[in-house]
Amino acid sequence: MRLKDRTAVVTGAASGIGKAIALRFAAEGAIVVIADLDETPREGGVTTVSAIEASGGRAVFCRCDVSRADDLTAAINMAVGLGGRLDVMVNNAAIGTDTPLLETSEADWERVMSVNAKGVFLGCREAVRRMVTQEPRGEVRGRIVNISSQHGMIRAPNDFAYGVGKATVVYMTRQIAGDYAEQGIVCNAVAPGKILTGKTGRAIAPEMLAYSQSRTPWPRLGRPEDVANAVLFLSSDEASYITGENLMVDGGWMAN
Ligand code: NAP
Repeated sequence: MRLKDRTAVVTGAASGIGKAIALRFAAEGAIVVIADLDETPREGGVTTVSAIEASGGRAVFCRCDVSRADDLTAAINMAVGLGGRLDVMVNNAAIGTDTPLLETSEADWERVMSVNAKGVFLGCREAVRRMVTQEPRGEVRGRIVNISSQHGMIRAPNDFAYGVGKATVVYMTRQIAGDYAEQGIVCNAVAPGKILTGKTGRAIAPEMLAYSQSRTPWPRLGRPEDVANAVLFLSSDEASYITGENLMVDGGWMAN
């Protein structure tokens, strides 16, 4: 129970990796706010709240568009209302356009940046705003984990705005870690490689899978639980004296 009696907000937690993070947190004792546009999982199956409640955990859904500061404040207030404070903020929601530079319209760029860059900026700002008002638990007032990507460090094939947004997340993580360490705010990122979430479409197109397999030394592609385990570690007291880090969970993609 590494997060016993802790409260957490996880954005984009209705589906995929965010859902796995929320399930893992709840299994470790956290009260989790599922902050997403819609409760229906993209990959099908039961909602995150139902899955958590079925295993005896505590979670609530909060309709939240991460490009809107008021929605993030509402999600954080919900966590504070349930547990008295915000211990962990996970900025996970992201979108892409599946287009290279020349096919990326200004509207595409603005839509992706409003979620992948502005959404993380707002999630961090609203979380830090709350966390600095809290008494520390040990050395730490609050922890942030931003979900970046290997495609924020190297080119994202056919997804220009997505990759730029993810590079922004890596930068923001370092800046916030440095700026707010003094106040006891821990800010790290987790960079997944190719993770199979159960989503259909381009994510599992044969050429995409072949490309990912060719880049990944480990003999399988990633699972949402691989990412959730790393996020749990960085959200727990076991991650001491670690801040500003961008932890790869990529089966060795970036080592290759
Ligand atoms: P996913 O299945 O598409 O889930 C993303 C979730 O975020 C969805 O529930 C989506 O809701 C929600 N969302 C989208 N826009 C939102 C907004 N404006 N406000 C609130 N929620 C919003 O994605 P995933 O594959 O689990 O990826 C999760 C994270 O890992 C992302 O940051 C992604 O970039 C990163 N990542 C994933 C991989 C991978 O291989 N899967 C690799 C590297 C990095 P809707 O379904 O309603 O749109």
